[in-house]
Amino acid sequence: MKMKIQIPANLVRKPIVSDIVLKTKVLINLEKVNIETNKADMIVDVKDEWEDVKKAFEERGIKVDLLKEPIKRRLDRCVMCGICSMICPVDVFKISEDWEVKMDSSRCIICKNCIDLCPTESLTIDY
Ligand code: SF4
Ligand code: SF4
Repeated sequence: MKMKIQIPANLVRKPIVSDIVLKTKVLINLEKVNIETNKADMIVDVKDEWEDVKKAFEERGIKVDLLKEPIKRRLDRCVMCGICSMICPVDVFKISEDWEVKMDSSRCIICKNCIDLCPTESLTIDY
């Protein structure tokens, strides 16, 4: 399960992720990290027992959003041009043999590269 983790200012310099991995014994894959002086945002992927990890973050006062469908596409707008498949760093989009652009939203790390490039504004991210 992918999650967006929002760490508040008072916890930015604490070893939160290491602490949670040691306590839960669940591995956390960091997919994207944005650290500023007064906050930090992370996209993490947890394959097993993600509920334990979510609870551990929340017990420390950290906001967690589940990313069940990180990016959405409006098929009524998409013209299957394939531009998104060229810019996505994690291969969310694949062009099939019959030239249809297939999508696996679960791979998305919310970099937003594709949003501005889509000529028909078919792609949206809620977070
Ligand atoms: S860039 Fe937009 S229109 Fe082109 S294939 Fe991707 S989602 Fe569809
Ligand atoms: S937001 Fe980034 S990772 Fe997600 S589909 Fe678009 S280009 Fe790929």
